[in-house]
Amino acid sequence: MYRYGQVAAATFISLALLSGCSNSTGTNESPDNSNPPEQQEATQAQPADSNAELSELNEPSEQEPDEQPETEPPAEQPAQSTPPEEPLELLYEMNATTYRFTPLRESTDDKAVLLTFDDGPKEKELLERMLATLDEHEAKAIFFVNGYRVEQHPELLQLIADHDQTIGNHSWDHIDLRKADPAEAKRQIQAVQTIVRDVTGEAPRFFRPPFGSGGDAVKTIAAEQGLLYMTWSNGSRDWESVTKDKPDEVIRYVIEQLHPGANILMHELPWTADALDDLLTTLSAEGYGFINPETIKLPDDLPSAE
Ligand SMILES: [Zn+2]
Repeated sequence: MYRYGQVAAATFISLALLSGCSNSTGTNESPDNSNPPEQQEATQAQPADSNAELSELNEPSEQEPDEQPETEPPAEQPAQSTPPEEPLELLYEMNATTYRFTPLRESTDDKAVLLTFDDGPKEKELLERMLATLDEHEAKAIFFVNGYRVEQHPELLQLIADHDQTIGNHSWDHIDLRKADPAEAKRQIQAVQTIVRDVTGEAPRFFRPPFGSGGDAVKTIAAEQGLLYMTWSNGSRDWESVTKDKPDEVIRYVIEQLHPGANILMHELPWTADALDDLLTTLSAEGYGFINPETIKLPDDLPSAE
Protein backbone atom coordinates (compact mmCIF):
# COMPACT_ATOMS: atom_id res chain seq x y z
CA MET A 1 0.00 0.00 0.00
CA TYR A 2 1.17 3.50 -0.75
CA ARG A 3 1.05 4.37 2.90
CA TYR A 4 4.11 2.36 3.82
CA GLY A 5 6.26 4.29 1.44
CA GLN A 6 4.82 7.48 2.77
CA VAL A 7 5.42 6.48 6.32
CA ALA A 8 8.99 5.51 5.64
CA ALA A 9 9.58 8.77 3.88
CA ALA A 10 7.85 10.69 6.63
CA THR A 11 9.89 8.93 9.27
CA PHE A 12 13.06 9.73 7.46
CA ILE A 13 12.06 13.35 7.04
CA SER A 14 10.96 13.52 10.64
CA LEU A 15 14.26 12.20 11.85
CA ALA A 16 16.11 14.59 9.64
CA LEU A 17 14.05 17.49 10.91
CA LEU A 18 14.29 16.36 14.47
CA SER A 19 17.98 17.00 14.67
CA GLY A 20 17.50 20.41 13.20
CA CYS A 21 14.62 21.69 15.25
CA SER A 22 14.96 20.23 18.69
CA ASN A 23 17.23 22.98 19.87
CA SER A 24 14.85 25.73 18.99
CA THR A 25 11.66 24.12 20.17
CA GLY A 26 12.41 21.58 22.81
CA THR A 27 13.09 24.12 25.48
CA ASN A 28 9.93 23.78 27.48
CA GLU A 29 11.99 24.12 30.61
CA SER A 30 13.23 27.54 29.60
CA PRO A 31 13.08 30.10 32.38
CA ASP A 32 11.15 32.63 30.36
CA ASN A 33 7.76 31.18 31.14
CA SER A 34 7.20 33.58 33.99
CA ASN A 35 3.71 34.26 32.78
CA PRO A 36 2.41 31.09 31.24
CA PRO A 37 -0.26 32.53 29.02
CA GLU A 38 -3.03 30.02 28.79
CA GLN A 39 -2.13 27.88 31.74
CA GLN A 40 -4.89 29.13 33.98
CA GLU A 41 -7.60 28.09 31.60
CA ALA A 42 -7.26 24.48 32.41
CA THR A 43 -7.76 25.03 36.09
CA GLN A 44 -10.64 27.44 35.90
CA ALA A 45 -14.14 26.18 36.24
CA GLN A 46 -14.80 27.44 32.77
CA PRO A 47 -11.50 27.15 31.01
CA ALA A 48 -10.69 29.38 28.18
CA ASP A 49 -13.70 31.56 28.51
CA SER A 50 -12.69 35.00 29.56
CA ASN A 51 -9.06 35.19 28.49
CA ALA A 52 -9.43 33.27 25.35
CA GLU A 53 -12.60 35.01 24.50
CA LEU A 54 -10.81 38.31 24.46
CA SER A 55 -7.77 36.88 22.84
CA GLU A 56 -9.54 35.06 20.13
CA LEU A 57 -11.57 38.14 19.45
CA ASN A 58 -8.28 39.60 18.39
CA GLU A 59 -7.51 36.73 16.16
CA PRO A 60 -6.13 37.82 12.85
CA SER A 61 -9.02 39.44 11.16
CA GLU A 62 -9.88 36.77 8.72
CA GLN A 63 -11.07 39.12 6.08
CA GLU A 64 -12.29 36.16 4.15
CA PRO A 65 -12.94 37.52 0.71
CA ASP A 66 -16.54 36.77 0.07
CA GLU A 67 -16.26 37.69 -3.52
CA GLN A 68 -15.24 34.30 -4.80
CA PRO A 69 -17.77 33.17 -7.34
CA GLU A 70 -20.01 30.50 -5.99
CA THR A 71 -19.39 28.05 -8.73
CA GLU A 72 -19.30 24.86 -6.78
CA PRO A 73 -22.37 22.68 -6.99
CA PRO A 74 -24.70 22.54 -4.04
CA ALA A 75 -23.38 20.21 -1.46
CA GLU A 76 -25.16 16.99 -2.05
CA GLN A 77 -22.56 14.39 -2.65
CA PRO A 78 -23.29 11.09 -1.01
CA ALA A 79 -20.43 9.97 1.19
CA GLN A 80 -19.46 7.46 -1.40
CA SER A 81 -15.75 7.36 -0.69
CA THR A 82 -16.13 6.00 2.82
CA PRO A 83 -16.80 2.29 2.79
CA PRO A 84 -18.38 1.00 5.96
CA GLU A 85 -15.64 0.53 8.51
CA GLU A 86 -15.87 -1.07 11.86
CA PRO A 87 -15.68 1.57 14.58
CA LEU A 88 -12.30 2.08 16.18
CA GLU A 89 -11.65 0.91 19.69
CA LEU A 90 -12.42 3.62 22.22
CA LEU A 91 -9.28 4.65 24.04
CA TYR A 92 -9.75 8.05 25.70
CA GLU A 93 -12.31 10.08 27.56
CA MET A 94 -12.45 13.81 28.10
CA ASN A 95 -12.62 15.57 31.42
CA ALA A 96 -15.60 17.89 31.03
CA THR A 97 -14.04 20.55 33.24
CA THR A 98 -10.46 20.68 32.05
CA TYR A 99 -11.11 19.39 28.50
CA ARG A 100 -8.07 17.13 28.87
CA PHE A 101 -8.03 13.50 27.83
CA THR A 102 -7.22 10.44 29.86
CA PRO A 103 -6.91 6.84 28.73
CA LEU A 104 -9.78 4.50 29.46
CA ARG A 105 -7.33 1.72 30.30
CA GLU A 106 -3.98 1.61 32.02
CA SER A 107 -2.44 -0.09 29.03
CA THR A 108 -3.03 3.03 26.90
CA ASP A 109 -0.30 5.65 27.00
CA ASP A 110 -1.45 8.88 28.60
CA LYS A 111 1.20 10.82 26.69
CA ALA A 112 -1.03 11.79 23.82
CA VAL A 113 -2.55 15.01 22.57
CA LEU A 114 -5.62 16.00 20.61
CA LEU A 115 -4.89 18.28 17.66
CA THR A 116 -7.64 20.71 16.68
CA PHE A 117 -7.90 23.36 13.98
CA ASP A 118 -10.63 25.99 14.17
CA ASP A 119 -12.28 28.47 11.86
CA GLY A 120 -12.08 26.68 8.53
CA PRO A 121 -12.49 25.56 5.95
CA LYS A 122 -10.95 28.59 4.31
CA GLU A 123 -8.48 27.97 1.58
CA LYS A 124 -7.57 24.97 -0.54
CA GLU A 125 -3.81 25.36 -0.65
CA LEU A 126 -3.52 25.96 3.07
CA LEU A 127 -5.81 23.13 3.97
CA GLU A 128 -4.15 20.69 1.59
CA ARG A 129 -0.78 21.48 3.13
CA MET A 130 -2.09 20.84 6.63
CA LEU A 131 -3.85 17.64 5.63
CA ALA A 132 -0.73 16.34 3.86
CA THR A 133 1.39 17.03 6.94
CA LEU A 134 -1.10 15.24 9.17
CA ASP A 135 -1.06 12.29 6.77
CA GLU A 136 2.73 12.17 6.78
CA HIS A 137 2.70 11.94 10.56
CA GLU A 138 -0.29 9.58 10.60
CA ALA A 139 -1.95 12.13 12.86
CA LYS A 140 -5.66 12.75 13.22
CA ALA A 141 -7.31 15.98 14.28
CA ILE A 142 -10.64 17.71 14.66
CA PHE A 143 -11.35 20.51 12.24
CA PHE A 144 -13.90 22.76 13.93
CA VAL A 145 -15.69 24.42 11.05
CA ASN A 146 -18.01 27.37 10.66
CA GLY A 147 -21.18 26.85 8.68
CA TYR A 148 -20.87 29.99 6.58
CA ARG A 149 -17.46 28.84 5.40
CA VAL A 150 -18.74 25.36 4.63
CA GLU A 151 -21.49 26.96 2.59
CA GLN A 152 -18.86 28.85 0.59
CA HIS A 153 -16.57 25.84 0.16
CA PRO A 154 -18.34 22.52 0.63
CA GLU A 155 -15.60 20.90 -1.44
CA LEU A 156 -13.06 21.83 1.24
CA LEU A 157 -15.16 20.17 3.91
CA GLN A 158 -15.29 17.08 1.75
CA LEU A 159 -11.52 17.27 1.40
CA ILE A 160 -11.16 17.09 5.17
CA ALA A 161 -13.48 14.10 5.28
CA ASP A 162 -11.64 12.44 2.40
CA HIS A 163 -8.47 12.51 4.50
CA ASP A 164 -10.32 10.70 7.28
CA GLN A 165 -10.02 13.67 9.56
CA THR A 166 -12.79 14.50 12.01
CA ILE A 167 -15.10 17.46 11.53
CA GLY A 168 -16.36 19.42 14.51
CA ASN A 169 -19.05 22.08 14.89
CA HIS A 170 -17.83 25.64 15.59
CA SER A 171 -21.19 27.39 15.02
CA TRP A 172 -22.46 28.90 11.80
CA ASP A 173 -21.28 32.51 12.07
CA HIS A 174 -18.49 32.41 14.65
CA ILE A 175 -20.41 34.64 17.01
CA ASP A 176 -20.18 34.76 20.80
CA LEU A 177 -22.85 32.21 21.68
CA ARG A 178 -22.79 33.09 25.37
CA LYS A 179 -24.25 36.46 24.46
CA ALA A 180 -26.69 35.08 21.93
CA ASP A 181 -30.35 34.40 22.48
CA PRO A 182 -30.75 30.66 23.20
CA ALA A 183 -32.90 30.19 20.12
CA GLU A 184 -30.24 31.82 17.99
CA ALA A 185 -27.51 29.76 19.65
CA LYS A 186 -29.47 26.63 18.84
CA ARG A 187 -29.88 27.68 15.22
CA GLN A 188 -26.16 28.46 14.99
CA ILE A 189 -25.27 24.96 16.13
CA GLN A 190 -28.04 23.02 14.44
CA ALA A 191 -27.43 24.54 11.02
CA VAL A 192 -23.83 23.33 11.08
CA GLN A 193 -24.97 19.82 11.98
CA THR A 194 -27.24 19.91 8.96
CA ILE A 195 -24.80 21.25 6.39
CA VAL A 196 -21.97 18.96 7.49
CA ARG A 197 -24.25 15.96 7.29
CA ASP A 198 -25.52 17.06 3.88
CA VAL A 199 -21.97 17.39 2.54
CA THR A 200 -20.21 14.45 4.16
CA GLY A 201 -23.05 12.15 5.14
CA GLU A 202 -22.20 12.41 8.81
CA ALA A 203 -23.08 14.99 11.45
CA PRO A 204 -20.34 16.19 13.83
CA ARG A 205 -19.98 14.73 17.33
CA PHE A 206 -17.72 17.45 18.74
CA PHE A 207 -18.50 21.08 19.43
CA ARG A 208 -16.32 24.04 20.36
CA PRO A 209 -17.89 27.45 20.92
CA PRO A 210 -16.20 30.40 19.20
CA PHE A 211 -13.85 32.24 21.58
CA GLY A 212 -14.32 29.36 24.02
CA SER A 213 -17.40 31.28 25.11
CA GLY A 214 -20.41 29.12 25.83
CA GLY A 215 -21.92 28.74 29.26
CA ASP A 216 -24.54 26.37 30.58
CA ALA A 217 -27.24 27.17 28.04
CA VAL A 218 -24.93 26.49 25.10
CA LYS A 219 -23.62 23.33 26.77
CA THR A 220 -27.17 22.07 27.05
CA ILE A 221 -27.96 22.89 23.43
CA ALA A 222 -24.81 21.12 22.27
CA ALA A 223 -25.59 18.04 24.34
CA GLU A 224 -29.14 17.90 23.00
CA GLN A 225 -27.69 17.68 19.51
CA GLY A 226 -25.37 14.85 20.46
CA LEU A 227 -22.28 17.02 20.65
CA LEU A 228 -19.40 16.73 23.07
CA TYR A 229 -18.65 20.29 24.21
CA MET A 230 -15.04 21.34 24.63
CA THR A 231 -12.82 24.36 24.67
CA TRP A 232 -9.12 23.48 25.04
CA SER A 233 -6.30 23.00 27.53
CA ASN A 234 -3.38 24.15 25.39
CA GLY A 235 -3.74 27.36 23.43
CA SER A 236 -1.08 27.61 20.77
CA ARG A 237 -1.68 31.36 20.64
CA ASP A 238 -1.54 31.03 16.88
CA TRP A 239 -4.37 33.56 16.59
CA GLU A 240 -2.46 36.25 18.47
CA SER A 241 -0.16 38.84 17.01
CA VAL A 242 2.79 37.34 18.93
CA THR A 243 2.81 34.35 16.60
CA LYS A 244 1.73 35.95 13.34
CA ASP A 245 4.10 34.81 10.59
CA LYS A 246 6.25 33.10 13.26
CA PRO A 247 5.81 29.33 13.04
CA ASP A 248 8.58 28.76 15.59
CA GLU A 249 6.62 30.75 18.15
CA VAL A 250 3.53 28.62 17.58
CA ILE A 251 5.65 25.56 18.30
CA ARG A 252 7.21 27.18 21.34
CA TYR A 253 3.84 28.04 22.90
CA VAL A 254 2.44 24.57 22.30
CA ILE A 255 5.49 22.90 23.84
CA GLU A 256 5.48 25.34 26.73
CA GLN A 257 1.92 24.29 27.62
CA LEU A 258 2.34 20.62 26.79
CA HIS A 259 0.86 18.04 29.17
CA PRO A 260 -0.51 14.51 28.86
CA GLY A 261 -3.95 14.55 27.33
CA ALA A 262 -3.58 18.10 26.04
CA ASN A 263 -6.39 19.50 23.96
CA ILE A 264 -4.44 21.74 21.59
CA LEU A 265 -6.19 24.68 20.00
CA MET A 266 -4.86 25.80 16.63
CA HIS A 267 -6.37 27.46 13.58
CA GLU A 268 -6.32 27.16 9.85
CA LEU A 269 -3.65 29.83 9.44
CA PRO A 270 -0.54 30.07 7.25
CA TRP A 271 1.97 30.16 10.09
CA THR A 272 0.31 27.22 11.77
CA ALA A 273 0.49 25.29 8.52
CA ASP A 274 4.17 26.28 8.31
CA ALA A 275 4.75 25.10 11.87
CA LEU A 276 2.87 21.85 11.64
CA ASP A 277 5.52 19.48 10.36
CA ASP A 278 8.13 20.56 12.91
CA LEU A 279 5.50 20.71 15.63
CA LEU A 280 4.36 17.15 15.08
CA THR A 281 7.97 15.99 14.85
CA THR A 282 8.72 17.74 18.13
CA LEU A 283 5.66 16.29 19.86
CA SER A 284 6.65 12.82 18.72
CA ALA A 285 10.20 13.40 19.94
CA GLU A 286 8.78 14.38 23.34
CA GLY A 287 7.09 10.99 23.40
CA TYR A 288 3.56 12.13 22.59
CA GLY A 289 1.13 10.35 20.34
CA PHE A 290 -1.83 11.87 18.56
CA ILE A 291 -5.32 11.03 19.75
CA ASN A 292 -7.61 9.92 16.98
CA PRO A 293 -10.85 11.77 17.75
CA GLU A 294 -12.76 8.68 16.67
CA THR A 295 -11.31 6.86 19.68
CA ILE A 296 -12.74 9.37 22.16
CA LYS A 297 -15.54 7.88 24.22
CA LEU A 298 -18.61 10.08 24.20
CA PRO A 299 -20.66 10.34 27.38
CA ASP A 300 -23.23 7.57 27.70
CA ASP A 301 -26.09 10.01 28.07
CA LEU A 302 -25.28 11.86 24.85
CA PRO A 303 -27.96 11.26 22.23
CA SER A 304 -26.84 10.28 18.74
CA ALA A 305 -26.01 13.30 16.60
CA GLU A 306 -28.68 14.08 14.07
ZN1 LIG B 1 -12.86 30.19 16.31
